[in-house]
Amino acid sequence: MEAVLLFGGQVWGHPGSDAVVVAEGRVVGIGCTEDLAGLVATQRDVGGGAILPGFIDGHTHLVESGLAEIGWRLDVAGCGREEALARMAAAGRLRTKGEWLFATGWDESRWIPDARLRRSELDRAVPGIPAVAVRVDGHLAVANSEALNLTQDVAKGAPQLVDVELGEIREAAVFAVLARVRPDDATIREALRAAARSCHRLGITTAHIMTGSVDPLVILDAAPGLRLRVVIHPPVDRLEVLARDGVRSGQGNAWGRWGGVKLFADGSIGARNAAVSLPYESGGRGALNCPTAWLSERIAAAERSGWQTITHAIGDRAIGQVLDAHRGAGSDRGLRHRVEHYELPTVEQIQDTAQLGLAVCMQPNFVGNWSGAGGLYETALGGERDAACNPFSAVIAAGIPLGLGSDGMPLSPLYGIASVVRAPHEGQRIPLEDAIRGYTEGSAFLSGGEPAQGRLAPGGSADLLVLDGPLDVESIGRRSVTLTLVGGELVYNGMEDA
Ligand SMILES: [Zn+2]
Repeated sequence: MEAVLLFGGQVWGHPGSDAVVVAEGRVVGIGCTEDLAGLVATQRDVGGGAILPGFIDGHTHLVESGLAEIGWRLDVAGCGREEALARMAAAGRLRTKGEWLFATGWDESRWIPDARLRRSELDRAVPGIPAVAVRVDGHLAVANSEALNLTQDVAKGAPQLVDVELGEIREAAVFAVLARVRPDDATIREALRAAARSCHRLGITTAHIMTGSVDPLVILDAAPGLRLRVVIHPPVDRLEVLARDGVRSGQGNAWGRWGGVKLFADGSIGARNAAVSLPYESGGRGALNCPTAWLSERIAAAERSGWQTITHAIGDRAIGQVLDAHRGAGSDRGLRHRVEHYELPTVEQIQDTAQLGLAVCMQPNFVGNWSGAGGLYETALGGERDAACNPFSAVIAAGIPLGLGSDGMPLSPLYGIASVVRAPHEGQRIPLEDAIRGYTEGSAFLSGGEPAQGRLAPGGSADLLVLDGPLDVESIGRRSVTLTLVGGELVYNGMEDA
């Protein structure tokens, strides 16, 4: 690959530099255009845009995002109630008898009134075929009568997770119902290709993927062709099989690596089943998904096999349980065990998390989606907990390794960064430098990356992006990505000459 000079920009982390030279997949020079221009034949003016290390999204559901993009699942994110139902009705009419309709992304916290979808509404909108509409967080779904009929065994096996009257399905039962119709491997590969194109357009050069029920080997196998680096996180129930095959965290190649095994301590605030100590405004304190001893045993088992764990914990009661579980397991710091989301930690829990040497992966876009007056956090938890949730600045101040990820809501690092640098509450707001760091080297650290990973530095991999202008707090909300390079290869070109 011949050398290329990107010039006329602002190189992030290198004040005074306006140009980057890329060759053989690596950054080979950073400096001033005058000094570097004579050395390289191929040159590209980036028009004053900021040049940044590529974003590393620390938490995605890329297969699900891709399935929605290719229409295998219907994406109703951002739709109002009527529109969501109308689109499901239209998609339902295109399906023949025996086919299922899965819709994803509805979020009643943004509707007025904020009532959830009901079985009866789905029955009217999508008659005659089984239909399931999964809430944006994936922890709650609503099914029509047809779908409930076909999944009676799920309701029998876990009656506490299925409300037949309302059509509501929760937690593990959602996964069990979705598993009724699995996409074949060719469909998964097509979905990954579509999702990788979106990543490139958004400046994401590495994505951490929660594999869910998808065979992780299909994703690893597809990775080189995607021109997107992936870190894959299979569910903990695959631990024994993976260990028997001699696979452990960190193994892989430049394109695909094994991350950690995924555990769930609780649900979500939107579904009112994240485990909190004080009740929700509507009553109830959510639920823990498993006993602490079980969680501790799974963490210890993962450690014995060389596996990092990454545990979903949103409410303070769940976060407390995860900290206890790690205390019980005697956690190996070298594995960089992670806590995901970490939305409602107490002040003491933040200190304990730092002391235990745990890393966290948080979602700045959640602040943009749900914080502030009238938002989900205030409605569900009251104003005090709205102001205290997602305490990014306290996490950083405590020295906890922090990576950032989108959780696919939506898949957009720039939106997340803009959300958190202009957050409505002081404890959520962090400087632009910290937000960029979280979405680059912070997320690199989460999967065992060395400090230089996720930075622009000579000798480092040429995973980078260019914005359509300079980067500052005032303009971040308007910025978009114009160029993305992975391993020196131009994978997205949104400039006018494209
Ligand atoms: Zn997730």
